[in-house]
Amino acid sequence: MSQSSGAPATPSKLGAVHTLPSYLQADNLGPWGIYLQQVDRVTPYLGHLARWVETLKRPKRALIVDVPIELDNGTIAHFEGYRVQHNTSRGPGKGGVRFHQDVTLSEVMALSAWMSIKNAAVNVPYGGAKGGIRVDPKKLSMGELERLTRRYTSEIGIIIGPTKDIPAPDVNTNGQIMAWMMDTYSMNTGSTATGVVTGKPVDLGGSLGRVEATGRGVFTVGVEAAKLTGLQLEGARLAVQGFGNVGGIAAKLFAEAGAKVVAVQDHTGTIFNGKGLDVPALLAHVKIRGGVGGFAGAEAMKPEEFWGVDCEILIPAALEGQITEHNAGQIKAKLVIEGANGPTTPEADDILHDKGVLVLPDVIANAGGVTVSYFEWVQDFSSFFWSEDEINARLVRIMQDAFAGVWQVAQEHKVSLRTATFIVACQRILHAREMRGLYP
Ligand code: NAD
Repeated sequence: MSQSSGAPATPSKLGAVHTLPSYLQADNLGPWGIYLQQVDRVTPYLGHLARWVETLKRPKRALIVDVPIELDNGTIAHFEGYRVQHNTSRGPGKGGVRFHQDVTLSEVMALSAWMSIKNAAVNVPYGGAKGGIRVDPKKLSMGELERLTRRYTSEIGIIIGPTKDIPAPDVNTNGQIMAWMMDTYSMNTGSTATGVVTGKPVDLGGSLGRVEATGRGVFTVGVEAAKLTGLQLEGARLAVQGFGNVGGIAAKLFAEAGAKVVAVQDHTGTIFNGKGLDVPALLAHVKIRGGVGGFAGAEAMKPEEFWGVDCEILIPAALEGQITEHNAGQIKAKLVIEGANGPTTPEADDILHDKGVLVLPDVIANAGGVTVSYFEWVQDFSSFFWSEDEINARLVRIMQDAFAGVWQVAQEHKVSLRTATFIVACQRILHAREMRGLYP
């Protein structure tokens, strides 16, 4: 087994202490490998806390579950599900659940680790976790989707709970799925536990403003970065990949602030309108048609042309690994705001940095969702609910403060905002780890 980069070279009598199990090692391609590279980049800035850095390179707990369901045609199908708790030093695990045919353990591990970083970056009292099922939910009926969700929830029920690990929506999961998860957990434990998941419908203990929160957070850090770099938002051109919860809301808020959304790409197509797309009309089209493809107010573009579109702001808000060394060179934007988790590979990050493109990293840019999830969880515990204005104002304040702190660290150390966010977050996590100590 090879030594992981950054691990102490001293051989241990116990053998395995300083080497990572094979499934944790960087393969340079998978999301977990990318995350490990990011941790290695910040280790030199961690001072005495670097002693604890291996903690960040191993998930605390990773559960793989078989999720069998009866399909509508009477056959039995098995799906693979995961729940990974990367770190719980600062509080219970927190992170979404993704239903996607390409979900892998490596991906869920990386997403859980990025949740640890994100929660620490905005200083909400959570560790990091993530879950997923390897399934294309679009091929399931509503009944099949409900049975899948309930069985998965029962299977991971041994490690989740309002004070243990709190799931939330992610790609292809939504308020209805959270309602089924909450109900299943509550039925299994014998009392209604609204705080076991966030992103629930408002009538079931959900929070006002949660649906828009991630997009609003993306917009908030975008506004802050524009102010700091002298970028005029009025008339700025915007390209958005992914027009779902995050991309759609972010595009709407930027358009309301006077920016022109000129290009959008999703899984159904790539569309362009140099004069600016009619965002409310596009949102309505997506609601009916399931994607941007075929939108009348735009021309279709070749998918590979999307990255080279003339624009000032680019928002990747779909899946990870989208901006790579193959397309980063084409990007004309001055500002990239990562709505998605892990959309930029480390090689692409370097290319963008060399071109002078400012990247607002996922671990701060899309933290708005988990911030309002935190508000939802607090409201569920106290059974006292806040107004939408109160929630949005608190969200904006947390995002602005967190962004200002990260910006300052980036200036101090002359590092990218990603490295700066990792420095802030890793210091908070490892400081908590150090104060708690090892038990037993
Ligand atoms: P969503 O399911 O609402 O939307 C996903 C979008 O991505 C859709 O428009 C879909 O068409 C598009 N897409 C999927 N595959 C694509 C492909 N191959 N090429 C181009 N577009 C593609 O999901 P979401 O909640 O908006 O999440 C998007 C990203 O944001 C994910 O990376 C997610 O982890 C991240 N994120 C979401 C939240 C949240 O609160 N929803 C919070 C933080 C981060």
